[in-house]
This record gives sequence, C-alpha cells and structure tokens, in this order.
Amino acid sequence: MRIPLIAGNWKMFKTPQEAEAFCERFKELYKDTDVQALICAPAIDIPAVVKGFEGSNIKVGAQNVYFEKEGAFTGEVSVDMLKAAGCSFCIIGHSERRQYFGETDETVNKRTVAALNAGLKPIVCVGELKWERECNITEEVIARQIKLDLWSLTAEQVKNVVIAYEPVWAIGTGKTATADQAEEVCAFIRAQLAKLYNQDAADAVTIQYGGSMNDGNADELLSKTNVDGGLIGGASLVAEKFAAIVKAASK
Ligand code: PEP
Repeated sequence: MRIPLIAGNWKMFKTPQEAEAFCERFKELYKDTDVQALICAPAIDIPAVVKGFEGSNIKVGAQNVYFEKEGAFTGEVSVDMLKAAGCSFCIIGHSERRQYFGETDETVNKRTVAALNAGLKPIVCVGELKWERECNITEEVIARQIKLDLWSLTAEQVKNVVIAYEPVWAIGTGKTATADQAEEVCAFIRAQLAKLYNQDAADAVTIQYGGSMNDGNADELLSKTNVDGGLIGGASLVAEKFAAIVKAASK
C-alpha cells in the first residue's frame, strides 16, 4: 500500500526565522493523519526546519543535491551533508533547475543514483512543456525522461524513488491539470515503470502530481488512483493551506 506523500517545495522563499514560525504553526495543525508530510526547504533553512519538526513525523527534504561525494564544487551540497543535517528526501530535476540552471536528464540521473546510494529518497520531477502537450507528444517526453532519469537503477532501487509528474505549464501559473489529465499521465508513468522494471516495482512507486495544486483542487486531484500525493510550491508557504492539502490526501 502506498502512503500519500504531500511535499512542500518552498523554492527560494523564507528566511530561517520565517521557517521556524511555519513549523510551529504547521506542527499544531498536522495531527493524527495517515499522510506523510514533507517540507523541502532551501538549504539554509534545513537546520531550522529539522529543529522545528522535532518530535513529529514530518519529514524534511532538500531541493537539489550534487552527485560527487565532496570536492571543489563551489555552491553545491552533497548527499552526506543533507543526510547529516537531517534530510530524508531530495527533489531532483525540478523544471526550474532544468530551465534556469542547466539541469539535464544525465545530471538528474547522476543525482538520483547518488541520493539512492546514500539512502536519501529522490523525488524525481518529470513533465512536459506547454508546446509539447499541444504537439501531442506528452507521453513521448515523459517516457524519455523516465528512462534517462532512472537509467541504471535496479527494480529494488526504483521502489525508493518518488516521481513527481509536474506539467511545466502548470507550475506556478495557477493553471492546474485536470484530475483526468493528471491521472492519465501518472498511470502512464506507472505503466512505463512496469515495462522498464516490473509490476511489483511499479506498484511500489509513489507518484505525485505537482502544478498549482492548492486547498481548493487537491481533493479531486488526490482522489485519482495513480495520484499518490502532491508536490506543492506556492500553497506550501502558508501552514493553513498546506495543512488543508494534507487533510485532502487523508483517505
Ligand atoms: C513546484 O514548485 O513544484 C510547484 C508545483 O509549484 P506550484 O505549486 O506553485 O505550481
């Protein structure tokens, strides 16, 4: 059985002090739930969030990680550093990293392998551009990303990967995919995993939808069979809104 995973992606928002205030409020709201909640914070906020969620089951993650163990890589953060800081998840290949920071399927793959080898759960983001959807090649784009981003993983390793389906045209735009569109692609991703690995692995993988999910549309999106959770940007910045999405994911 897959446990719903609701992950917040704070992007480049919140100082450590603001992070602390969020945690205090969210901890009060996150009670007796069968949903796994996670905040992926800017690296500088991670210690404050880990401290803020102490004594709760709320997980902490990063938004990026470098694949080398250590070395002369100015500005980067390693998997060992994230683990030591208290992270258990890491977003990899977010469309903003691909668009603004030159992330490719090859580097997404390297980061994913490094994360898994260190016991950090990768949330691998895939999704088509608006133009690609209009040209009717969404499935081709997704199939290519899944194959390349997860290249060389074993079926056992794949079970520890979270995949976030994030249509690029829906991220931060207020234009959410319909629940049927989200389900269609999430089901396609699961079918691809079954083809590339096996059904057992495909059934174990958590597949999230991300793209303008909020407290108003989460219920419908999360009601779909293959949508196991959400990756939430804007709406994860306000504790009450994020808590309402967690509530919507509770079966
Ligand atoms: C995201 O950052 O992954 C995201 C889905 O953002 P938003 O919810 O703001 O569209």
